[in-house]
Amino acid sequence: MGKHTEKLAGEILSGAGLKRTYGRVALIKLLLEAQNPLTRQEISDNLNGVNFNYVSIYRSLDAFLKAGIIHKVEAGDRNWRFAICHCGSSSHCHPHFICRSCGKVECLSGLKIPQIDKLKPGYVVEEQEIYIRGLCAHCSS
Ligand SMILES: [Zn+2]
Ligand SMILES: [Zn+2]
Repeated sequence: MGKHTEKLAGEILSGAGLKRTYGRVALIKLLLEAQNPLTRQEISDNLNGVNFNYVSIYRSLDAFLKAGIIHKVEAGDRNWRFAICHCGSSSHCHPHFICRSCGKVECLSGLKIPQIDKLKPGYVVEEQEIYIRGLCAHCSS
C-alpha cells in the first residue's frame, strides 16, 4: 500500500496543479488510506510524526477543497470531516451515512445521486448534501 499510495498522492496533487510538499503528500496519503472521513483533530493526531503543524494542515485542507480533490462532511456535531473525492467532483455526488449510536461517518461512494441544478426559476444551488442516518453494522448487532 505505502509506495503505491505515495505515488497516487503525488499524482493527485500535480493533477490539481498543487505544489507537492512532504506534508501535503502525507496528508493526501492519510486520506487515501482512511476508511472514513477524518476530522482535523484526527488528521493532526495521525500526522504527528510528520513536521506539519495544525495551521499548515488547515491551509492545505482549504487548498485541497478549492481544488476539488477533497470534500468536507458535517455530520451534525459541528465537526468537519474530510475525505478524498473519488468521483472527481468537488460538489457532493454521493450521500453520507451517519451512525446515531457511535457517530461514525461514512462516504457512500457506491451510491450516485443526480446533481440537482434546476430547482425553480431564479434559484441557484450552491451545495448539495444528502445524509442518511441510522445504525452501522456494528451498532445494530
Ligand atoms: Zn455505529
Ligand atoms: Zn464523501
